[in-house]
Amino acid sequence: MPARDACGVVGISLQGKGAAPYLFRGLRALQHRGQESAGIATTSHGALHQRRGMGLVHEIFGQELLDSLRGTTGIGHVRYPTTGSTDIENAQPIVFKMRDGDAALACNGDLVNFERLRRHLQGQGVELLGNADTETMAQAIALEYSHQRDLEGAIRRACMELVAFRDPLGIRPMVFGTVEGGVAVASESVALELMGGKSVRDVLPGEVLVLEKGQLARTSTIPNNGDRAHCMFEWVYFSRPDSMLEGRPIYDVRHRIGVRLAKESPAASDLVVPVPDSARPQALGFAEGSGIPYAEALIKNRFVERTFILPDQKRRELEVRVKLHPVPGLLKGKRIVLLDDSIVRGTTLREIVQMVRTAGATKIDVRIGCPPIRAPCYFGVDMKERRELVAYERSEEQVAEIIGADSVHYLSMEGLVESIGMRSEELCLGCLTGKYPVEVPQERHRFQKSLKEF
Ligand code: SF4
Repeated sequence: MPARDACGVVGISLQGKGAAPYLFRGLRALQHRGQESAGIATTSHGALHQRRGMGLVHEIFGQELLDSLRGTTGIGHVRYPTTGSTDIENAQPIVFKMRDGDAALACNGDLVNFERLRRHLQGQGVELLGNADTETMAQAIALEYSHQRDLEGAIRRACMELVAFRDPLGIRPMVFGTVEGGVAVASESVALELMGGKSVRDVLPGEVLVLEKGQLARTSTIPNNGDRAHCMFEWVYFSRPDSMLEGRPIYDVRHRIGVRLAKESPAASDLVVPVPDSARPQALGFAEGSGIPYAEALIKNRFVERTFILPDQKRRELEVRVKLHPVPGLLKGKRIVLLDDSIVRGTTLREIVQMVRTAGATKIDVRIGCPPIRAPCYFGVDMKERRELVAYERSEEQVAEIIGADSVHYLSMEGLVESIGMRSEELCLGCLTGKYPVEVPQERHRFQKSLKEF
Protein backbone atom coordinates (compact mmCIF):
# COMPACT_ATOMS: atom_id res chain seq x y z
CA MET A 1 0.00 0.00 0.00
CA PRO A 2 -0.81 2.64 -0.94
CA ALA A 3 -1.47 2.11 -4.62
CA ARG A 4 -4.78 3.29 -5.89
CA ASP A 5 -7.24 1.32 -7.89
CA ALA A 6 -8.86 2.74 -10.97
CA CYS A 7 -12.44 2.70 -9.85
CA GLY A 8 -15.55 0.99 -8.60
CA VAL A 9 -18.78 0.47 -10.53
CA VAL A 10 -22.30 -0.49 -9.62
CA GLY A 11 -25.44 -0.97 -11.72
CA ILE A 12 -29.02 -1.86 -10.84
CA SER A 13 -32.32 -2.64 -12.50
CA LEU A 14 -35.44 -2.60 -10.31
CA GLN A 15 -39.15 -2.89 -10.72
CA GLY A 16 -41.42 -0.25 -9.27
CA LYS A 17 -38.87 1.70 -7.21
CA GLY A 18 -36.13 4.22 -7.75
CA ALA A 19 -32.56 3.06 -8.42
CA ALA A 20 -30.71 6.12 -7.07
CA PRO A 21 -30.83 5.38 -3.30
CA TYR A 22 -29.53 1.86 -3.97
CA LEU A 23 -26.74 3.14 -6.20
CA PHE A 24 -25.80 5.63 -3.49
CA ARG A 25 -25.45 2.83 -0.93
CA GLY A 26 -23.52 0.64 -3.35
CA LEU A 27 -21.09 3.46 -4.14
CA ARG A 28 -20.49 4.18 -0.48
CA ALA A 29 -19.50 0.52 -0.06
CA LEU A 30 -16.99 0.97 -2.89
CA GLN A 31 -15.57 4.29 -1.70
CA HIS A 32 -12.17 2.67 -0.98
CA ARG A 33 -11.75 2.09 -4.74
CA GLY A 34 -11.79 5.78 -5.59
CA GLN A 35 -12.19 9.06 -3.76
CA GLU A 36 -11.61 11.67 -6.44
CA SER A 37 -15.09 11.88 -7.91
CA ALA A 38 -18.36 10.00 -8.05
CA GLY A 39 -21.41 9.95 -10.28
CA ILE A 40 -24.80 8.35 -10.84
CA ALA A 41 -26.85 8.10 -14.05
CA THR A 42 -30.42 6.81 -14.13
CA THR A 43 -32.99 6.41 -16.84
CA SER A 44 -36.76 6.97 -16.77
CA HIS A 45 -39.19 7.01 -19.70
CA GLY A 46 -36.39 7.25 -22.22
CA ALA A 47 -34.70 10.23 -20.50
CA LEU A 48 -31.26 10.04 -18.96
CA HIS A 49 -30.47 11.80 -15.67
CA GLN A 50 -26.90 12.20 -14.57
CA ARG A 51 -25.14 13.87 -11.62
CA ARG A 52 -21.42 13.88 -10.99
CA GLY A 53 -19.20 15.69 -8.53
CA MET A 54 -15.72 15.88 -7.07
CA GLY A 55 -15.15 14.32 -3.65
CA LEU A 56 -16.66 11.53 -1.60
CA VAL A 57 -20.03 9.95 -2.39
CA HIS A 58 -21.83 11.29 0.69
CA GLU A 59 -20.45 14.78 0.10
CA ILE A 60 -21.80 14.89 -3.45
CA PHE A 61 -25.19 13.24 -3.09
CA GLY A 62 -27.69 14.84 -0.71
CA GLN A 63 -31.34 13.81 -0.63
CA GLU A 64 -32.38 16.49 -3.12
CA LEU A 65 -29.88 15.35 -5.70
CA LEU A 66 -30.84 11.71 -5.24
CA ASP A 67 -34.53 12.61 -5.65
CA SER A 68 -33.75 14.29 -8.96
CA LEU A 69 -32.25 11.04 -10.31
CA ARG A 70 -35.49 9.41 -11.38
CA GLY A 71 -35.91 5.96 -12.83
CA THR A 72 -35.72 2.30 -11.90
CA THR A 73 -32.46 1.58 -13.75
CA GLY A 74 -29.07 3.19 -13.29
CA ILE A 75 -25.33 2.98 -12.89
CA GLY A 76 -22.84 4.57 -10.53
CA HIS A 77 -19.12 5.10 -10.36
CA VAL A 78 -16.37 6.14 -7.95
CA ARG A 79 -13.13 7.25 -9.51
CA TYR A 80 -9.48 7.40 -8.71
CA PRO A 81 -7.75 8.70 -11.82
CA THR A 82 -5.12 6.57 -13.51
CA THR A 83 -5.70 7.93 -17.02
CA GLY A 84 -6.84 11.48 -17.57
CA SER A 85 -6.52 14.49 -15.38
CA THR A 86 -8.33 15.39 -12.18
CA ASP A 87 -11.42 17.31 -13.22
CA ILE A 88 -15.15 16.95 -13.52
CA GLU A 89 -15.04 16.28 -17.30
CA ASN A 90 -13.40 12.95 -16.52
CA ALA A 91 -15.80 11.99 -13.72
CA GLN A 92 -18.10 9.11 -14.58
CA PRO A 93 -20.63 7.94 -15.67
CA ILE A 94 -19.94 9.54 -19.04
CA VAL A 95 -23.06 10.46 -21.05
CA PHE A 96 -22.69 10.19 -24.80
CA LYS A 97 -24.85 10.33 -27.90
CA MET A 98 -25.84 7.19 -29.73
CA ARG A 99 -27.78 7.16 -32.97
CA ASP A 100 -31.18 6.95 -31.28
CA GLY A 101 -30.55 8.74 -28.02
CA ASP A 102 -28.22 9.17 -25.08
CA ALA A 103 -26.38 6.45 -23.19
CA ALA A 104 -24.25 6.47 -20.03
CA LEU A 105 -21.06 4.49 -19.44
CA ALA A 106 -19.08 3.74 -16.27
CA CYS A 107 -15.85 1.78 -16.44
CA ASN A 108 -13.43 0.18 -13.98
CA GLY A 109 -10.00 -0.25 -15.56
CA ASP A 110 -7.75 1.25 -18.20
CA LEU A 111 -7.85 0.87 -21.96
CA VAL A 112 -4.43 -0.44 -22.95
CA ASN A 113 -4.90 0.78 -26.55
CA PHE A 114 -6.17 4.16 -25.37
CA GLU A 115 -3.80 6.37 -27.44
CA ARG A 116 -4.36 4.43 -30.65
CA LEU A 117 -8.13 4.42 -30.24
CA ARG A 118 -8.16 8.12 -29.44
CA ARG A 119 -6.20 8.96 -32.59
CA HIS A 120 -8.52 6.74 -34.63
CA LEU A 121 -11.63 8.49 -33.27
CA GLN A 122 -10.20 11.95 -33.84
CA GLY A 123 -9.32 10.88 -37.38
CA GLN A 124 -13.02 10.02 -37.86
CA GLY A 125 -14.00 13.53 -36.74
CA VAL A 126 -15.18 12.55 -33.25
CA GLU A 127 -14.88 15.38 -30.73
CA LEU A 128 -13.48 14.29 -27.35
CA LEU A 129 -14.16 16.63 -24.43
CA GLY A 130 -12.07 15.15 -21.63
CA ASN A 131 -8.92 13.06 -21.74
CA ALA A 132 -10.00 9.90 -19.89
CA ASP A 133 -10.15 6.52 -21.54
CA THR A 134 -13.81 5.96 -20.59
CA GLU A 135 -14.92 8.80 -22.85
CA THR A 136 -12.80 7.26 -25.59
CA MET A 137 -14.49 3.91 -25.03
CA ALA A 138 -17.95 5.50 -25.02
CA GLN A 139 -17.28 7.28 -28.31
CA ALA A 140 -15.86 4.09 -29.82
CA ILE A 141 -19.07 2.23 -28.89
CA ALA A 142 -21.19 5.04 -30.35
CA LEU A 143 -19.15 5.07 -33.58
CA GLU A 144 -19.32 1.31 -33.89
CA TYR A 145 -23.08 1.31 -33.39
CA SER A 146 -23.56 4.07 -35.92
CA HIS A 147 -21.91 1.80 -38.52
CA GLN A 148 -24.01 -1.25 -37.71
CA ARG A 149 -27.59 -1.07 -38.82
CA ASP A 150 -28.57 -4.34 -37.18
CA LEU A 151 -27.88 -2.86 -33.75
CA GLU A 152 -30.51 -0.17 -34.16
CA GLY A 153 -33.10 -2.08 -32.16
CA ALA A 154 -30.60 -2.66 -29.41
CA ILE A 155 -29.83 1.03 -29.23
CA ARG A 156 -33.49 1.89 -28.92
CA ARG A 157 -33.89 -0.67 -26.16
CA ALA A 158 -30.83 0.70 -24.43
CA CYS A 159 -33.00 3.50 -23.01
CA MET A 160 -34.54 0.91 -20.69
CA GLU A 161 -31.64 -1.49 -20.29
CA LEU A 162 -28.53 -1.81 -18.31
CA VAL A 163 -25.75 -3.63 -20.14
CA ALA A 164 -22.88 -4.82 -17.95
CA PHE A 165 -19.74 -6.39 -19.35
CA ARG A 166 -16.53 -7.68 -17.88
CA ASP A 167 -13.21 -7.55 -19.72
CA PRO A 168 -12.43 -10.74 -21.66
CA LEU A 169 -9.75 -11.97 -19.23
CA GLY A 170 -11.58 -10.96 -16.06
CA ILE A 171 -8.69 -8.74 -14.98
CA ARG A 172 -10.99 -6.40 -13.12
CA PRO A 173 -13.71 -7.88 -10.92
CA MET A 174 -17.47 -7.79 -11.34
CA VAL A 175 -20.19 -9.66 -9.50
CA PHE A 176 -23.85 -10.19 -10.28
CA GLY A 177 -26.53 -10.45 -7.62
CA THR A 178 -30.10 -9.91 -6.57
CA VAL A 179 -31.62 -7.10 -4.53
CA GLU A 180 -35.20 -6.85 -3.33
CA GLY A 181 -37.27 -6.21 -6.43
CA GLY A 182 -34.43 -6.44 -8.89
CA VAL A 183 -30.94 -7.39 -9.99
CA ALA A 184 -27.59 -5.63 -9.76
CA VAL A 185 -23.91 -5.78 -10.65
CA ALA A 186 -20.95 -4.28 -8.79
CA SER A 187 -17.18 -4.32 -8.62
CA GLU A 188 -17.37 -6.11 -5.27
CA SER A 189 -19.87 -8.34 -3.51
CA VAL A 190 -19.92 -6.04 -0.46
CA ALA A 191 -21.68 -3.36 -2.54
CA LEU A 192 -24.53 -5.75 -3.34
CA GLU A 193 -24.88 -6.61 0.32
CA LEU A 194 -24.95 -2.97 1.36
CA MET A 195 -27.72 -2.42 -1.18
CA GLY A 196 -29.72 -4.98 0.82
CA GLY A 197 -29.08 -7.77 -1.69
CA LYS A 198 -26.68 -10.64 -2.14
CA SER A 199 -24.11 -11.82 -4.59
CA VAL A 200 -25.17 -14.71 -6.85
CA ARG A 201 -22.00 -15.20 -8.88
CA ASP A 202 -19.00 -13.54 -10.50
CA VAL A 203 -19.66 -12.17 -13.97
CA LEU A 204 -17.60 -14.41 -16.27
CA PRO A 205 -14.62 -12.99 -18.16
CA GLY A 206 -15.97 -11.52 -21.39
CA GLU A 207 -19.58 -11.96 -20.30
CA VAL A 208 -22.23 -9.42 -21.29
CA LEU A 209 -25.30 -9.19 -19.04
CA VAL A 210 -28.47 -7.38 -19.99
CA LEU A 211 -30.51 -6.28 -16.97
CA GLU A 212 -34.03 -5.18 -17.78
CA LYS A 213 -37.15 -4.46 -15.71
CA GLY A 214 -35.63 -5.88 -12.55
CA GLN A 215 -34.51 -9.13 -14.18
CA LEU A 216 -31.49 -10.66 -15.84
CA ALA A 217 -32.92 -10.61 -19.37
CA ARG A 218 -30.09 -12.39 -21.18
CA THR A 219 -26.36 -13.07 -21.21
CA SER A 220 -23.77 -13.73 -23.89
CA THR A 221 -20.02 -14.18 -23.83
CA ILE A 222 -17.32 -12.72 -26.03
CA PRO A 223 -15.49 -15.72 -27.56
CA ASN A 224 -12.33 -16.46 -25.60
CA ASN A 225 -10.37 -19.69 -25.41
CA GLY A 226 -10.75 -19.95 -21.65
CA ASP A 227 -7.84 -17.67 -20.73
CA ARG A 228 -8.25 -15.74 -17.50
CA ALA A 229 -6.04 -13.23 -15.76
CA HIS A 230 -7.61 -12.07 -12.50
CA CYS A 231 -5.66 -9.22 -10.88
CA MET A 232 -3.80 -10.68 -7.89
CA PHE A 233 -3.81 -7.23 -6.29
CA GLU A 234 -7.56 -7.43 -5.64
CA TRP A 235 -6.85 -10.17 -3.08
CA VAL A 236 -3.69 -8.53 -1.79
CA TYR A 237 -4.95 -4.99 -1.26
CA PHE A 238 -7.78 -3.44 -3.26
CA SER A 239 -10.93 -5.31 -2.44
CA ARG A 240 -12.51 -4.96 0.95
CA PRO A 241 -11.78 -7.91 3.26
CA ASP A 242 -15.53 -8.51 3.58
CA SER A 243 -15.88 -9.09 -0.19
CA MET A 244 -15.71 -12.39 -2.12
CA LEU A 245 -13.92 -12.67 -5.42
CA GLU A 246 -14.04 -15.68 -7.75
CA GLY A 247 -15.57 -17.66 -4.88
CA ARG A 248 -12.70 -16.81 -2.52
CA PRO A 249 -13.30 -14.63 0.54
CA ILE A 250 -10.72 -11.85 0.49
CA TYR A 251 -10.28 -12.07 4.28
CA ASP A 252 -9.39 -15.79 4.13
CA VAL A 253 -6.80 -15.25 1.38
CA ARG A 254 -5.12 -12.46 3.37
CA HIS A 255 -5.13 -14.56 6.53
CA ARG A 256 -3.53 -17.49 4.65
CA ILE A 257 -0.89 -15.07 3.30
CA GLY A 258 0.03 -14.15 6.90
CA VAL A 259 0.29 -17.78 8.01
CA ARG A 260 2.43 -18.54 4.97
CA LEU A 261 4.73 -15.55 5.59
CA ALA A 262 5.31 -16.72 9.18
CA LYS A 263 6.49 -20.04 7.77
CA GLU A 264 8.54 -18.59 4.89
CA SER A 265 10.18 -15.70 6.76
CA PRO A 266 10.08 -16.12 10.54
CA ALA A 267 11.38 -13.37 12.81
CA ALA A 268 12.51 -13.46 16.43
CA SER A 269 10.12 -10.82 17.77
CA ASP A 270 7.92 -9.86 20.69
CA LEU A 271 4.91 -8.42 18.84
CA VAL A 272 3.19 -8.69 15.46
CA VAL A 273 1.85 -5.28 14.43
CA PRO A 274 -0.25 -4.60 11.32
CA VAL A 275 -0.12 -1.46 9.22
CA PRO A 276 -3.82 -0.58 9.54
CA ASP A 277 -6.33 -1.16 8.09
CA SER A 278 -5.44 -3.30 5.12
CA ALA A 279 -2.80 -5.59 6.69
CA ARG A 280 -4.83 -6.74 9.70
CA PRO A 281 -5.84 -10.20 8.40
CA GLN A 282 -2.25 -10.86 7.24
CA ALA A 283 -0.89 -9.83 10.66
CA LEU A 284 -3.41 -12.04 12.46
CA GLY A 285 -2.35 -14.93 10.21
CA PHE A 286 1.32 -14.22 10.94
CA ALA A 287 0.63 -14.14 14.70
CA GLU A 288 -1.22 -17.45 14.50
CA GLY A 289 1.45 -19.03 12.32
CA SER A 290 4.33 -17.86 14.51
CA GLY A 291 2.81 -17.91 18.00
CA ILE A 292 3.97 -14.30 18.52
CA PRO A 293 1.36 -12.04 20.21
CA TYR A 294 -0.61 -9.63 18.01
CA ALA A 295 -1.13 -5.98 18.93
CA GLU A 296 -2.91 -3.06 17.28
CA ALA A 297 -0.07 -0.72 18.15
CA LEU A 298 -0.75 1.78 15.34
CA ILE A 299 -4.08 3.56 15.38
CA LYS A 300 -5.58 5.06 12.28
CA ASN A 301 -7.46 8.32 12.30
CA ARG A 302 -10.54 7.28 10.33
CA PHE A 303 -11.46 10.83 9.44
CA VAL A 304 -8.47 11.56 7.21
CA GLU A 305 -9.54 10.10 3.89
CA ARG A 306 -8.93 12.61 1.16
CA THR A 307 -5.47 11.46 0.05
CA PHE A 308 -5.95 12.78 -3.48
CA ILE A 309 -5.75 16.38 -2.32
CA LEU A 310 -2.19 15.75 -1.18
CA PRO A 311 -0.44 14.97 -4.43
CA ASP A 312 3.24 15.61 -3.83
CA GLN A 313 5.74 13.57 -1.90
CA LYS A 314 6.33 15.95 1.00
CA ARG A 315 2.65 16.32 1.69
CA ARG A 316 2.11 12.57 1.50
CA GLU A 317 4.78 12.09 4.14
CA LEU A 318 3.10 14.60 6.41
CA GLU A 319 -0.18 12.89 5.80
CA VAL A 320 1.10 9.59 7.25
CA ARG A 321 1.77 11.35 10.53
CA VAL A 322 -1.76 12.74 10.61
CA LYS A 323 -3.25 9.38 9.68
CA LEU A 324 -1.41 7.03 12.03
CA HIS A 325 -0.33 7.26 15.63
CA PRO A 326 1.37 4.69 17.90
CA VAL A 327 -0.25 3.53 21.15
CA PRO A 328 2.00 4.97 23.91
CA GLY A 329 4.15 2.39 25.65
CA LEU A 330 3.16 -0.61 23.52
CA LEU A 331 6.20 -0.54 21.26
CA LYS A 332 8.80 0.59 23.80
CA GLY A 333 11.69 -1.84 24.18
CA LYS A 334 10.03 -4.42 21.89
CA ARG A 335 11.16 -6.30 18.80
CA ILE A 336 8.41 -5.74 16.25
CA VAL A 337 7.30 -7.68 13.16
CA LEU A 338 5.54 -5.04 11.07
CA LEU A 339 3.13 -6.49 8.54
CA ASP A 340 2.06 -4.68 5.39
CA ASP A 341 0.04 -5.96 2.44
CA SER A 342 2.45 -4.71 -0.25
CA ILE A 343 5.07 -2.05 -0.98
CA VAL A 344 4.71 0.13 -4.04
CA ARG A 345 6.77 3.31 -3.65
CA GLY A 346 7.91 2.69 -0.07
CA THR A 347 7.33 6.29 1.07
CA THR A 348 4.48 5.51 3.44
CA LEU A 349 6.21 2.49 4.94
CA ARG A 350 9.41 4.44 5.52
CA GLU A 351 7.46 6.97 7.57
CA ILE A 352 5.72 4.22 9.52
CA VAL A 353 8.99 2.41 10.30
CA GLN A 354 10.44 5.65 11.58
CA MET A 355 7.34 6.23 13.70
CA VAL A 356 7.62 2.74 15.23
CA ARG A 357 11.30 3.29 15.97
CA THR A 358 10.65 6.68 17.57
CA ALA A 359 8.04 4.98 19.77
CA GLY A 360 10.84 2.84 21.23
CA ALA A 361 10.96 -0.38 19.17
CA THR A 362 14.41 -1.98 19.39
CA LYS A 363 14.14 -4.02 16.17
CA ILE A 364 11.76 -3.78 13.21
CA ASP A 365 11.36 -6.74 10.86
CA VAL A 366 9.06 -5.89 7.96
CA ARG A 367 7.08 -8.68 6.31
CA ILE A 368 5.17 -8.00 3.11
CA GLY A 369 2.13 -10.03 2.03
CA CYS A 370 2.95 -9.82 -1.68
CA PRO A 371 6.05 -10.48 -3.84
CA PRO A 372 8.07 -7.39 -4.91
CA ILE A 373 6.24 -5.05 -7.31
CA ARG A 374 8.83 -4.35 -9.99
CA ALA A 375 6.87 -3.46 -13.13
CA PRO A 376 4.08 -1.04 -14.06
CA CYS A 377 0.38 -1.83 -14.25
CA TYR A 378 -1.47 -1.08 -17.49
CA PHE A 379 -4.88 -2.22 -16.30
CA GLY A 380 -6.19 0.48 -14.06
CA VAL A 381 -3.83 0.62 -11.11
CA ASP A 382 -1.78 3.68 -10.32
CA MET A 383 1.68 2.13 -10.78
CA LYS A 384 2.94 3.59 -14.02
CA GLU A 385 6.69 4.12 -13.74
CA ARG A 386 9.30 1.48 -12.92
CA ARG A 387 11.61 4.00 -11.30
CA GLU A 388 8.89 4.94 -8.78
CA LEU A 389 8.74 1.36 -7.51
CA VAL A 390 11.02 0.82 -4.54
CA ALA A 391 11.61 -2.86 -5.42
CA TYR A 392 12.67 -2.12 -9.00
CA GLU A 393 16.23 -3.42 -9.38
CA ARG A 394 16.63 -3.57 -5.59
CA SER A 395 17.18 -6.53 -3.27
CA GLU A 396 15.32 -7.06 0.01
CA GLU A 397 18.41 -5.74 1.86
CA GLN A 398 18.46 -2.55 -0.23
CA VAL A 399 14.75 -1.98 0.35
CA ALA A 400 15.24 -2.53 4.10
CA GLU A 401 17.93 0.13 4.07
CA ILE A 402 15.73 2.62 2.21
CA ILE A 403 12.76 2.22 4.54
CA GLY A 404 14.97 2.02 7.66
CA ALA A 405 13.95 -1.51 8.73
CA ASP A 406 16.23 -4.21 10.21
CA SER A 407 14.95 -6.68 7.60
CA VAL A 408 12.41 -6.88 4.81
CA HIS A 409 11.02 -10.15 3.43
CA TYR A 410 8.36 -10.51 0.78
CA LEU A 411 5.89 -13.32 0.28
CA SER A 412 7.08 -15.76 -2.40
CA MET A 413 5.28 -16.06 -5.73
CA GLU A 414 4.24 -19.63 -4.87
CA GLY A 415 3.03 -18.41 -1.48
CA LEU A 416 0.82 -15.80 -3.15
CA VAL A 417 -0.60 -18.12 -5.80
CA GLU A 418 -1.31 -20.90 -3.30
CA SER A 419 -2.89 -18.49 -0.81
CA ILE A 420 -5.26 -17.21 -3.50
CA GLY A 421 -5.95 -20.81 -4.45
CA MET A 422 -5.84 -20.49 -8.25
CA ARG A 423 -3.33 -21.58 -10.85
CA SER A 424 -0.78 -18.89 -11.72
CA GLU A 425 -2.00 -19.06 -15.38
CA GLU A 426 -5.39 -17.82 -14.17
CA LEU A 427 -3.96 -14.72 -12.51
CA CYS A 428 -2.51 -11.44 -13.74
CA LEU A 429 0.91 -11.18 -12.09
CA GLY A 430 2.16 -8.54 -14.53
CA CYS A 431 3.47 -6.00 -12.01
CA LEU A 432 5.40 -8.80 -10.27
CA THR A 433 6.83 -10.61 -13.31
CA GLY A 434 6.82 -7.97 -16.06
CA LYS A 435 4.87 -10.43 -18.23
CA TYR A 436 1.40 -9.25 -19.01
CA PRO A 437 -1.73 -11.16 -20.01
CA VAL A 438 -2.37 -8.93 -23.03
CA GLU A 439 -0.13 -6.99 -25.35
CA VAL A 440 0.88 -3.68 -23.79
CA PRO A 441 3.11 -0.96 -25.22
CA GLN A 442 6.83 -1.84 -25.03
CA GLU A 443 6.27 -4.77 -22.69
CA ARG A 444 6.41 -8.52 -22.88
CA HIS A 445 3.33 -10.53 -23.37
CA ARG A 446 3.08 -13.58 -21.20
CA PHE A 447 2.07 -15.75 -24.14
CA GLN A 448 5.22 -14.75 -26.04
CA LYS A 449 6.96 -17.99 -25.16
CA SER A 450 10.27 -17.13 -26.81
CA LEU A 451 11.08 -14.36 -24.35
CA LYS A 452 13.31 -15.33 -21.50
CA GLU A 453 12.02 -15.22 -17.95
CA PHE A 454 11.88 -11.87 -16.23
S1 SF4 B 1 -0.35 -5.62 -13.44
FE1 SF4 B 1 -0.57 -6.01 -11.22
S2 SF4 B 1 -2.01 -4.48 -10.43
FE2 SF4 B 1 -2.16 -4.49 -12.68
S3 SF4 B 1 -3.87 -5.88 -13.13
FE3 SF4 B 1 -2.00 -7.10 -13.20
S4 SF4 B 1 -1.74 -7.90 -11.11
FE4 SF4 B 1 -3.24 -6.25 -11.01
